[in-house]
Parts: sequence; structure tokens; C-alpha cells
Amino acid sequence: MMQRARDFLNRQAAHRPLLIVSPSRAISEELTRPREATFGWYRLSWQQLVERLTRKRPLSRLARWATLQKLLRLQPPDRFAEVSRYPGFSLCLERSLHQARLYELEHPVGLELPPDYDEVDLLQAEWDEEWLRGMGALLVVGLSLDSPHQQRLLNRLRELIPNHLVLQPEPLHRPKVETLSAPDEALECQEIARQLLRAAERGTRWEEMAVLLRQPEVYRASLQSAMRRARIPAFFAESAQSPNPQGRALLSLLECARENLSALRFAEYLSLARQLKTPYRWEELLGAAWVIRTPERWRQRLQGLGQERRQQIAQLQRDEPESPKILYYQDELEQLRQLEGFALPLIERMAGWQRSRSWGEWLSEILALAHQCLVDPEVIEEKLEELQPLRDIPDVPLSEVVTVLAPELSQLTVPPKGHRYGKVLIGSLQEARGREFELVILPGMAERRFPPPIQPDPLLGDVLLQRQLAEERLAIDLALGCGRRVCASYPRQDQQNGRPLLPSATFLELSGAPTYQQSIQAAAANGCLTPAWPAPPDPAQAVDREEHALSWFLRLRAEARAGSAHFLLRLSPFLAQAMRSRMRMERTGWTRADGRVSQPCPESSWPNRRPFSPSTLQKFAVCPYQFWLYSAYRLGPRDRPRELEEMDPLTRGNFVHAVHARLVWRGPADLDTQLSSLREESAQVAREYAELLCPLVPRIFQDEVNQLTHEMEQWLRATYEPGWQARYAELAFQLSDDLERDPASRPQPADLGHGYRMRGSIDRIEINGQGQLKVVDLKTGRNKIPQVYRLARGEALQPVLYALAVEQALDAPVVESRLDFMTLRGNFSQSRLSEIGEARALLYEALGALQQSMQAGHLPAYPKVDGCRYCDYRGVCGPEAQSRARRKPPSTVTQAVDRWREMP
Ligand code: SF4
Repeated sequence: MMQRARDFLNRQAAHRPLLIVSPSRAISEELTRPREATFGWYRLSWQQLVERLTRKRPLSRLARWATLQKLLRLQPPDRFAEVSRYPGFSLCLERSLHQARLYELEHPVGLELPPDYDEVDLLQAEWDEEWLRGMGALLVVGLSLDSPHQQRLLNRLRELIPNHLVLQPEPLHRPKVETLSAPDEALECQEIARQLLRAAERGTRWEEMAVLLRQPEVYRASLQSAMRRARIPAFFAESAQSPNPQGRALLSLLECARENLSALRFAEYLSLARQLKTPYRWEELLGAAWVIRTPERWRQRLQGLGQERRQQIAQLQRDEPESPKILYYQDELEQLRQLEGFALPLIERMAGWQRSRSWGEWLSEILALAHQCLVDPEVIEEKLEELQPLRDIPDVPLSEVVTVLAPELSQLTVPPKGHRYGKVLIGSLQEARGREFELVILPGMAERRFPPPIQPDPLLGDVLLQRQLAEERLAIDLALGCGRRVCASYPRQDQQNGRPLLPSATFLELSGAPTYQQSIQAAAANGCLTPAWPAPPDPAQAVDREEHALSWFLRLRAEARAGSAHFLLRLSPFLAQAMRSRMRMERTGWTRADGRVSQPCPESSWPNRRPFSPSTLQKFAVCPYQFWLYSAYRLGPRDRPRELEEMDPLTRGNFVHAVHARLVWRGPADLDTQLSSLREESAQVAREYAELLCPLVPRIFQDEVNQLTHEMEQWLRATYEPGWQARYAELAFQLSDDLERDPASRPQPADLGHGYRMRGSIDRIEINGQGQLKVVDLKTGRNKIPQVYRLARGEALQPVLYALAVEQALDAPVVESRLDFMTLRGNFSQSRLSEIGEARALLYEALGALQQSMQAGHLPAYPKVDGCRYCDYRGVCGPEAQSRARRKPPSTVTQAVDRWREMP
């Protein structure tokens, strides 16, 4: 057929006007290539021809729907009066009315339609016959013109242009069919890429190959990825292009307004609005803020999250002043500020959208929103313009607007760029009309997908059913018949829903195997990928370097030959680095892959040159490398999402410390007075926190406050001693003064003797009549420290460090230093430092070992038993750091660390 069309065109003079009509302008253009220059040749699609002949344009689908909706409101049909006001009815009516008018069928809904409503009106209008008479020849190719109106125009064209050729769509070839199956759609696309590469190796040109899709929306992303990986030049026709993300972004915002300003929908909008370059952490922050409903709540929750972060920073500065989380939260605060500036105006605009309003108001509101939130709103403007006929309809709820706009916005088409020559064509089945290929691939031939089940029209019944079935069959026949060779494939599993898929009856028919089982087996045998190993057994069959490497691994596992995997080092610099590190890790000695080894630390980081906080020093006993990553690289630990039903641990700790400090600063008092002061301070701090943090569920917050107050009362009763008075609270050394601190706090670090210094904040210092001191550190977590200890295997340095700091700073003897676990979580227990003098000697020994290892630059990944289990740096060291460390020989540092860990 295509050859006949070309022969016909070759016989025509290049300078005489000629008309080519085909399913699309692109196909008409392809028919005339390659050819020398022509003059006055018109290449048109059927719709373009009708518009050219009548010089009119029919309404678009959306405008037709809008017109019907308006007509139904004005004259509701008696039979469908109940349902005709719903948008779904007019959407359905638009489809069936168009079909009924095209094929001159009787329709149950009679409406007086405006002029130029659809193509049928244009086909009945006056044609520009003068223009047609001037044509020297006519070629109509690949069009199914079976409606009486279309036939009338076609006959007139034949009469007016005697030199004509009309070629009905028909299969061009009886192709040789191959079948294929793959574990899922993504791997099916990889197999398709392999088939295309094989055909190219056999000499088929790229433009002689096509992948024709029945469901482009299921396959386009996977095919884009597969073509990119295999470096196959591909041309995605308009039917297979990814829709414009701006349409979906606007739709997400409309859904957000419909669902009561849902944060989830807003986050969806942020992820789609890529052009706005919105930071990825905004979505995280929305989740952390638990924003809901009114703009007031959005503002409160975002501000509340900011306050919560400030509280957490304050608590960290008290307990772990070197914590990398402080920088992380400070960065989050900046992001929050920007998010508030961006999101709140949008939320305020959508705030009153729960109220119904006229279509006219909706259109101007949505247009203003599009201008505010999209980079290129013109494309949306055009769509909204088509809905202008509706503007007078009053009382329209937002849900109705979303129902109407959703199909249009989610499928906003993007015209393809460039031409398809030198590229594989990827498009819908309709792209087969009027084209011819050497190889055609038909993916997705699974049951109920390809072909899909045909549903009768809800208003016309099954009058058109036979016609629809015939159209579907013709589309498949044309797709099969446009290639000399065809490869039909299906995925064995639905990737999205995870359910198994079976081949469709058409696939089984094409396979030609005698039985169902044989057909499935033959298709599976042609594919070579499995979910467990997505690479072919033969490396020569790989489509890209990753597949090639995986294929080689299969071989290498069988024949371990030295040097055969050397190519992997050239595959990617990251892979090469990872492999070299892995190799070093497996060596028996300590290498630079085992932490910071044999690389002296800068002098400024040594413990006798800079002050450390107790929590940082304690990390050395857990793992020297963890200490280094935390204190020098300041790698931030992971932020874990918290439960909605509980107060954040850092906020809880901050609350307890704030109440305690204000209680101490009130001055000495007897137990009853202190208890009543505690209740008053707790209520005051709770009020301040509630105002700042805006808790999502005030009841939960109040319950936590009551519980903590009750626990603090219990702790106060249990620890109260008449001869001792609390004198200092939150006595800080070299900490920022943006928190409530004891007035005796100092900007310098505390001196520990032997050149060592410390920074931190001491929760409570008591004094008795003889001037002796007690140091207490308050804890709100669980107690894992023995009741009596000196350094507790290096994991509880606070009591000894605080005792030394207080003795130096206040020049008075410390007779007791302890940790008070003052809540039910810690079982109201206490852990006391015994033998302060001995603990001090052990501490200097431990700090000396740390000093030596930093001077030697030897801070290996040498975790304590189960140390990696709770470490945030497992991603850095890998999952086997613990067992690897046990295989390495002991070094001076590991022996010193072992001594730390043995300290009582
Ligand atoms: S993961 Fe294990 S080896 Fe690595 S830093 Fe943490 S504790 Fe040390």
C-alpha cells in the first residue's frame, strides 16, 4: 500500500498543487520523503482538512463539555433530570453524543447545540470547493472514514479531484512473529531494548523500527529509561510523551484545597513543581510539622516546628554542644522560614475554597493560582479559556471543578521535539496507520490490557459495540501488519499492584504454539532476565555497562580466574573506589579503609588544645572512629520520625531542665514550698511551651506535662535532704547564652587540670553548711549505668568531669557527684560516682590515651560489643564493621581503648 502511495506521488509533477490527507500531518510528510523540492503540496490530517475547507474550528473536548453542562442546567432532560446536574453525566454525554451525531444514531438526550459544535457541523457546512478544484491530485491514505458525513466529503473530494488515490487502512504484511515475556514492565522494556539492538546489529536502521503501545501511560517512563540506558535514539510521539508536569502540579494544589488544605497533597505539588526548584527538605518539613486544615493552623504548626527546633538546639547545646544535629536543625530553621514565605500565601488563597461559587469566579481564582504557583501558566490559561461558556453557572462546588479539570490537567500533552529520522518510533497503536516498518514491537499483551475490555456506552447501549470491537481489531491488525517482523511481549507481573499477569488471547494466537503452556514457555525462554538477576547470562547480550558487569559476575562465580574482573575498576570511579576500600578492609592489618588510620589529626583537635563536652568524649569508648566522625567531621545523625502521641525526647528534656532551673533560682526553701513552687513553675513553662510550640493535639501535650510534673515531684521528695541547698542550676562553661543560664556561668571552658578543658552545662550543684558540694546531672531517659562506678567503662564521664570542673571553678570540695534518672523511664534511679580521687586518676589516664591516639592519627573503626547496632554511621562503615575489627591485630590505640572499656 505504501509503495502504491509513493508511486502515485512520484508520478505527480513537483510544481502542481497536490493534497495528501492521512491520520496525521507527520505521516503525510513522511510519505513525501526523500524527495526533491515540491511546490503547493498540502500535507494535512483529516481534521486539518475539514478546518481548511470550512475555515472554522470545532469546539475542543473541554469546551464541548462546558457547553453541554450549561445546556443541561438550562434545560435538564426529563428522563435524566436527577443526574444531569452532575459533571460525570455531561462528560459521558459528550462522548456518546459525538458518536451518535457522527453515525447518525438516535440519542436519548435531545439538546439544541450551538453552531460549529463538533466535526459533524463542519462536515455539513459550506466547503471551499474552489480551493479543491485547484488541486492537481489527491492522496488519502490510512484513514477509516466510515461515517456517512465523512463519506460524503470523501465522495465530493473524488468528484472535484479526478486524479486521486484513496487507500483504506489495511495490514501491509503478514509478519514473522516472535514472542517474549519478562518478569515485569521495567524488565520487559530492557528486553525490548535488547531486541532493538539485535535488529540494529543485523543492519536494520533505527527509523525502520517501532514500539507501539496500547497503554502508553504504563510504559513511557520505563521505555525512556531503557532507551537511555541502551543509548538507543528514540522518538517519542505525542501519544507517548510524558504529560506536562505543570498540569499535574496545579491539579495537586486543587486536590489540596478540596481535601481541607491537605499537607500530603501540598507535598505532592512540591515534588511535581520541579521547575520552581523547591528544596527537597520542604516536603520533609511539612511531614514533621503535621500541618492541617485552616491557614491559621498551617501558620501555627510551621511556627511551632520552628520553636520546637529552637528548643531542641538549646537542649543539644546543653547536653552535646558538639552535636552535628545543631547545624542540621539550624539549616532546617532557615528552610522553614523560606517554606513559610512560599506556602502560606498559597494556602491563604485556597482557604475559602470550600464554599461554592460561580464557574466564572472559579476560573479567575484558578488562573490567579496558576500564575502564582507555576513557571509557565500560559498552557493552563488556554485550557481555562475553553471553559468560558460556563462562567454564568452559579453554586459550583470545588469537587465538581476538580472532576472536570482532572482528566485535562493530568494529561496535558507536550509536543515532541525534533524529527523521527534516525530514531526508533515510540507511540500509540494509531502511529501504525500509513507507516511501514522492518521491526515492530508490541509490549504489554497481557489479559485485560491489550486488547482492553470494551464497555458499552452507558447512554447508547451496545449499538456501537460491534463498531468498537471492529476498530480495536483493526488497530491491532494494522499494528501487526505494518512490520515485516513483529515481536509481541507481555510482563508476567503487574509492577504497580504486584499481581501476576497472564498473556492475552491475542498474544496466544500470535505465538502459534499448540498449547497454552508451550506458548508461555516459549515466550519466557526468549527473555533472559529474572527479578533476582536482571542481566543476561551472556555478557555479549548486555544492553549497557551495568548489565554487562552483572553478566560477567555470573561467569566469574563459576570460573574464578585472576584478573578477569579487572574491567570493573574502569566501569565507574565510584565503583572502583568502593572495591578498593573493600579490598583494604579485608586485609589483616589496619588500613585507611578502617577509619582514620596513620593520618595525624590536626593539633587544634587534640584534647589538650580544645575543650570537649563529656558526651563527645564518651564516644571514644564506644568507637574511636565514631568519636572522630562526630567531633571532627560533624556528620549528622539520622533524624527519626517521632510518634504523634508523644513529646519529642529533646523537648521533654528541655521542659524538665527549664522547670528545675527556675525552681532552684527561686532560692532555698523547705520541701512543701519547693513542691508548690515546682507545680507553679511547671504550669508556667507549660503555658509558654504551648504558645510557642502549638502542639498538634493539646490533650497529648497536657498529659505529658502532667506526667512529668508528677515525676519531678516524686524525684524531689526522694532526694530532698534538709542540710543541703541547691545553689546553682544550669551552670554553663563556654556555651552560648541564648538560653536561661545560671548567672555564675562563664564564657571560658572549665579547667580540668593537666591542660585539659571542658565545655558544657551542669544541671544542679548543692551546698551544705560546711561548704561541701554535691553535683547532680538530671536525666529523663533510661538508666544503663551501674549504681556505683568510677568511669563506667568510659561511658559515664559526666560525674567525674563535672566534679573536677566544679572544684576548680568554685574552689570547694565535691563530696558527691551523681546522675539522677528523675522519671519513670529511668525508674527514679541514681548512679553515684565512688572514689572521686581514683576516678580522677583513671580519667587522666583515659584522656592521655585519647591524646596519644590523636597525635598518632590512629582512630580506627574499633567498636565495642554491639557498638555499631545503635550507631548512626553504619552507612559509612558498612554492615560488618564489628566482625572486621575483631580480625585486625591489636595496636597501641586499640589496647588503650580496651583499657577504657575495662575501667570500672
Ligand atoms: S558503625 Fe561501628 S565502626 Fe562505624 S563508627 Fe559506628 S560504631 Fe564505629
